[in-house]
Amino acid sequence: MVHGVERQKLVVGNWKMNGTRESVLKLLYSLQAGISTVPRTIQVVVLPSFVYLEETERRLKSTSIAWGAQNVHAADSGAFTGEVSAPMLRAFGCTYVLVGHSERRRYNQGSGEGIAEKFQAAIRAELRPILCVGETCEERQAGETLPIIYKQLDEVLGKVGIASFEKAVIAYEPVWAIGTGLAAAPQPVGAVITAIRDFLSKKDKTIAEKVGLLYGGSITRHEASELFKLPQVDGGLVGGASLNAAEFLDIARSF
Ligand code: PEP
Repeated sequence: MVHGVERQKLVVGNWKMNGTRESVLKLLYSLQAGISTVPRTIQVVVLPSFVYLEETERRLKSTSIAWGAQNVHAADSGAFTGEVSAPMLRAFGCTYVLVGHSERRRYNQGSGEGIAEKFQAAIRAELRPILCVGETCEERQAGETLPIIYKQLDEVLGKVGIASFEKAVIAYEPVWAIGTGLAAAPQPVGAVITAIRDFLSKKDKTIAEKVGLLYGGSITRHEASELFKLPQVDGGLVGGASLNAAEFLDIARSF
């Protein structure tokens, strides 16, 4: 580690397209009530659907919980029907935004260049992008995990440059582990996270030390403590289990 670099521990809840007004409100209340049980050294973040951002800001602004969005458009404004821009997210108090989540890469034709443009838009608006990378089951079986991840990183690095990663977070999310109940084993996760940091270090050692590196994929309270013991892992991106406040806070406390 470069002397003096203390990376923030992050536990991020991706709510995906889940929740009713009532259930989201209950979830926000429970998080608000329980956050004091999580050490202040751990930054808890939630990523609700766009339509719940206003309520999220209202409920969480007086807490230490941060929030963000699951997607962003590359342009700051314009004729892009149905899209949401980074300045709009900032206006609702967002700090983070997911970029390149595998569900979006798969269902929304998320190309490498498009993902890089979204990353750039987030940085322009002073949002912290959480760039998701990871291999599919077939790529893993073909021994291509690292080449795929390096390609996904290069697609963004080639456009925005390593300097733009200073405030970024990268989530290693093996596609086969997302929503399947098959969390990756701690040892391979540690190896991939180390490889990602080494890859970034070759571009700029100081910036590489500042980037938060998370694991995501079927984290529950059972896996969290083992995963978070890995010194390489700065936190977790949690999908399904983040919809249950008690479990999500348990995960955050396992650091
Ligand atoms: C995710 O959506 O990023 C995720 C990791 O989901 P899950 O925890 O449900 O696998």
